[in-house]
Amino acid sequence: MVRQPIIAGNWKMYKTPSEAVEFVRRLQEASAGVDNVEIVVAPPFPALVPVAGVLAGSFIGLAAQNMFWEAEGAFTGEVSPVMLAEIGCRYVILGHSERRQYFGETDANVNRKAWAALDRGLVPIVCVGESLDEREAGRTEKVVTAQIQGCLAGLPADAVAGLVIAYEPVWAIGTGRTASPADAQEVSARIRALVAELFGREAADRVRIQYGGSVKPENTRALISQPDIDGALVGGASLKVESFAGIIRETG
Ligand code: PEP
Repeated sequence: MVRQPIIAGNWKMYKTPSEAVEFVRRLQEASAGVDNVEIVVAPPFPALVPVAGVLAGSFIGLAAQNMFWEAEGAFTGEVSPVMLAEIGCRYVILGHSERRQYFGETDANVNRKAWAALDRGLVPIVCVGESLDEREAGRTEKVVTAQIQGCLAGLPADAVAGLVIAYEPVWAIGTGRTASPADAQEVSARIRALVAELFGREAADRVRIQYGGSVKPENTRALISQPDIDGALVGGASLKVESFAGIIRETG
């Protein structure tokens, strides 16, 4: 099964709308000609509309970093999947470890959001990963298994096939400490085997699994060449055109 690699830049709470627009203009030039990699950027909410304007018809896709599960209502401060779909988002990041750590995101919430996103034609990028304590206690597989079971509970197999799962060990996010390619592969293979158990072989063969955690151009190739790693979710290194385009070129 050939899965197209997907490189997504999670900008977190960085870049104003004008900075974001300038960035994607430059990224389009810097990554032109790399045609076998799907490229996605996830700007903060205020930048989504202007960036969508620049990216209309472009090879670069747009993601939101979060959403709520209701279509509309009295939910102050929240953004709905209907709104994201209308402005041209194709993806939405769900369950990022920073949302779990600072904003109380749970697997059950991620599951409700995943259902709502799929219902509106958005593709969830579902983030899972163990903390340092959990890894050191030998609990990585148990933790990631519970996250996958909770986040994907009850989803139809064909929807799971179209998802992106980002394996992001929490201790590697923003720390400069990357999982070794062998460790990242081991957990990614375990995730794929779990998807096969829960949703069938076809979903497991088709679902794309990204690695995330201090990815940069220098370590991209070794990670991406692992059989069960189909791309990267990139934080810090996606904030500079040179490093993000470098990761994209190393993938292509
Ligand atoms: C992330 O925020 O998803 C991430 C992987 O960050 P970084 O690349 O900076 O570790």
